[in-house]
Amino acid sequence: MFNALTPDILARLREIHGADNVSTARADIELHARDQSHHEAHDAEVVVFAQTAEGIAATLKLANDAHIPVTAWGVGTGLEGAAIPLHGGILLSLERMNRIVEVHADDFQVTVQPGIGHKDLNAQLARTGLFFPPDPGANATVGGMLANNAAGIRTVKYGATKDNVLAMQVALADGRLIRVGSRSVKQSSGYNLLQLIVGSEGTLGIITEATLKLVPVPAHMSAVVASFDTVEAAVETVVAVRGGGLDPAALELVDAAHCRMLRETEGVDLPDKPTLFMEFHAAGRDALEAGVAAVRDICTELGAVAFRATTDAAERKKLWHARHHSYEIMVRSHPGMHFFIMDVAVPISAYPELIGFVEDIKRETGVTAYMIGHAGDGNIHVEFPYADEAEFAHRMTLNRRIVHKALALGGTATGEHGVGLGKAEFMPAEHGDALDVMRTVKQALDPHGILNPGKLFPGE
Ligand SMILES: Cc1cc2nc3c(=O)[nH]c(=O)nc-3n(C[C@H](O)[C@H](O)[C@H](O)COP(=O)(O)OP(=O)(O)OC[C@H]3O[C@@H](n4cnc5c(N)ncnc54)[C@H](O)[C@@H]3O)c2cc1C
Repeated sequence: MFNALTPDILARLREIHGADNVSTARADIELHARDQSHHEAHDAEVVVFAQTAEGIAATLKLANDAHIPVTAWGVGTGLEGAAIPLHGGILLSLERMNRIVEVHADDFQVTVQPGIGHKDLNAQLARTGLFFPPDPGANATVGGMLANNAAGIRTVKYGATKDNVLAMQVALADGRLIRVGSRSVKQSSGYNLLQLIVGSEGTLGIITEATLKLVPVPAHMSAVVASFDTVEAAVETVVAVRGGGLDPAALELVDAAHCRMLRETEGVDLPDKPTLFMEFHAAGRDALEAGVAAVRDICTELGAVAFRATTDAAERKKLWHARHHSYEIMVRSHPGMHFFIMDVAVPISAYPELIGFVEDIKRETGVTAYMIGHAGDGNIHVEFPYADEAEFAHRMTLNRRIVHKALALGGTATGEHGVGLGKAEFMPAEHGDALDVMRTVKQALDPHGILNPGKLFPGE
């Protein structure tokens, strides 16, 4: 179906991007053969470090005419294998397109190249008093976040990546460079191609530039930690805090095992109990204190055994640093074991039932599984350590049960990690006939199927 790279095409890629930006070196191929997931590595034939939108468009036209696959690469922090070049061909890395193009401070917007990391972006924006709120734990690129519709701990207040983008420039498979969306916050013009490309995981086009929404850094912030004897009590509190209209800026569930690991490795003062990490933002100190007092009342009523609130910036940073690194800390705490992390999300009212289901599975099978999640969004990650292929296959059956439970509860197979390779098998169950409509869109925009082949659609 696809053709191999020829010396002529390699030479043309060097003309387009400059010889220094086109590599067939073993080290570069291996560095771009797998993301942070458990999925198997696959080699591309060449790694191209894109420099310009026009160069990307020219590369796509070349690859389209020659039927060569192109897989976009942000920085490879994906957790579902979406950036793995499954069918070889060209690995198109956006890592070197990592500049801010323009800050539109008066409009609370910034235009960026796709390869900028969201943490780097926020560090550079600090002087403006504005920030880009979506924050997956890793320093993912804006392009990778848009392509995956990544989310994070602040999504409960500020939305996912899809809610924080206004416009993009996109290179299509046939080499056209198009603009989708506009810098106007209100937009009502035609099909919403912006949101069609968001979450398409590099299967419909390559994002070459994006204009993002920014928000002012809040004047007052408080971090709150509340621990409970049972996961059930913690989860009930999540629903009550959301139901109380308290507008948390973060509302995270961290299980007892994670709390122990964070205490032992990061020195965060936590009991071995299921714990909620929360954050509240306000323009005034009084409003902040009133909100935290209301949260304390809810937590106490629902049986919190420990409650701590702090406005100390260093303590708050330490807590969130620990939360952001909890996955790596857990992996490091299990030398010799492999891990996979699964991601599902349900409506908030169904969250207690979903978490109860995972707890039941753990009791019934006796397997080790950890839970950590963006509870305020009804999103949970279950992390499975495994020692060998047999254990992996067994944990996969548990993964399937949890995904089907989430779907039965009106949820989704993936709240934020995307489909990639790992969730493709659930697409028919989740989307039904809508999956055929997705295939039609794919066929219209990428008739030769060169863009990130083997992803999203099962068995293709
Ligand atoms: C420790 C850790 C914590 C994480 N926490 C979170 C979390 O809280 N929330 C969350 O959502 N995710 C999380 N992730 C997953 C990951 O960070 C996100 O999926 C992120 O969006 C991937 O960005 P990336 O730049 O690494 O993209 P990559 O992994 O390189 O690519 C991801 C997908 O985007 C495509 N792509 C990349 N750039 C472009 C582009 N310019 N145009 C078109 N397609 C493109 C790729 O082809 C691929 O399909 C975490 C990962 C790790 C390792």
